[in-house]
Amino acid sequence: AIEVRLASRPHGVPTAENFDIVEVEVPSPGPGQVLVRNTWLSVDPYMRGRMSSAKSYAEPYEVGKVMHGGAIGEVLESGSDDFRPGDIVLHGLGWRTHAVLDAAHATKVDPDAAPVTAYLGVLGMTGLTAYAGLVDVATFTEGDTVFVSAAAGAVGSVAGQLAKLRGARRVIGSAGSAEKVRWLTEELGFDAAFNYKDGPVTEQLRAAAPDGVDVYFDNVGGEHLEAALDVLNLHGRIAVCGMISQYNATEPPKAPRNLMQFISRRLTMRGFLVGDHVHLRPRFLAEVAPLVRDGSLKYSETVVEGVRNAPQAFLDLLAGANTGKMLVRV
Ligand code: NDP
Repeated sequence: AIEVRLASRPHGVPTAENFDIVEVEVPSPGPGQVLVRNTWLSVDPYMRGRMSSAKSYAEPYEVGKVMHGGAIGEVLESGSDDFRPGDIVLHGLGWRTHAVLDAAHATKVDPDAAPVTAYLGVLGMTGLTAYAGLVDVATFTEGDTVFVSAAAGAVGSVAGQLAKLRGARRVIGSAGSAEKVRWLTEELGFDAAFNYKDGPVTEQLRAAAPDGVDVYFDNVGGEHLEAALDVLNLHGRIAVCGMISQYNATEPPKAPRNLMQFISRRLTMRGFLVGDHVHLRPRFLAEVAPLVRDGSLKYSETVVEGVRNAPQAFLDLLAGANTGKMLVRV
C-alpha cells in the first residue's frame, strides 16, 4: 500500500518536498472495522490550512502523518455487519491506497444513483457547501443578482448554477482563465463572467453587474471581497465561504488581517443606518430616559465655550480631547 504523508510545513506556496510518499503493509481490519481500497481521493483548498500549524477550524495535519481528506473506495474486507466486500464507501482518511477504519466512520454511497466521484464533489462536501452558503447563509431569494468568485471551481460552479436554477435575476462569475470564463457563460448558463487576471476586479464586476449585486458568494477574499463591497446593493449579503487568495500568503494584507475568523467562528457582520431604525425611538426613550433620570445610566459631556471655538472643538474631538459627548456652548 502507498500513503502520502506531510513531510514538512510549507512556507508560502507548498512544494513536492512538503510531502513524503511511503510504502506500507496493507493494514488488516479489526472487529467493527473495514478495509477499504481507495479509488478516488479528494483534493481541497482547506488542506493548505491544515498543513500549517496555525490554529484554525480544522486540526493541523501532523508532520509525518497521512494527509487526511475525503476519499471513496471499495470495501475489501469487513469486520462489521453493516458493510460487505464490494460496498462503495466515502470516508475521511485521505491520501492512501488502502484505509482501515471503524465502520462508524464509513458512509455507504449508491453507485447507481450517480458516478461515485460525484460524492466527493457535486453531491458531496463541495456541493453541500454551495447549497448551504447560497440558501442558508446568504438567504438567496428569487430575483437576486448573484456574484460568485472561483466560479469555475467545485463550490463556485455549483453555487452559480443553483442560483440560476432557483430564479436569480443575474449570475456573474469570476475565474482565472478565458477557457473557464467561456465554460461559465456558454455551458453553465452564467449571465456574465470575467477573468480576474484581465484587470481590476471592481471595474470588471461593475461592467458585468450594471445594476449591482445582491448576494456575493466569496471563495476568494482579498481584492474580490473589496470589489464586491463596492458593487453590493442595499441590503446585500455575503456568504464568506473561503479566502483562497490568501492561503499561500507569507505577508499579511493590511488590516483586517483576520477576516478568516468569519469562517472559523461563523461570524455575521451586518451594516445598518440609524435612520432605518427610527421606529425604535418611543421604545428607546421609554426604556432609557428613566435610567438617565435615576442615575443608573451615566453620561459625560465635554464643553467648549464659544462658537468661534467650534472648529477647534471638532479637531480636539478627532484627537480624543472629549470624554462623552463633545459640545460647543454658543
Ligand atoms: P476550487 O475547485 O474552487 O479550486 C480552487 C480554485 O481557486 C482554483 O481553481 C483557482 O481558480 C482559484 N484560485 C486560486 N488562487 C486564487 C486567487 N489568488 N484568486 C482567485 N482565485 C484563486 O476549490 P473548492 O471549490 O473546493 O473551494 C472553493 C473555496 O471554498 C475555497 O476558498 C475553499 O477554502 C472554500 N471552501 C469552504 C468551505 C466551508 O465550509 N466554508 C467548504 C469547502 C470549500 P482560478 O483559475 O479561477 O483562479
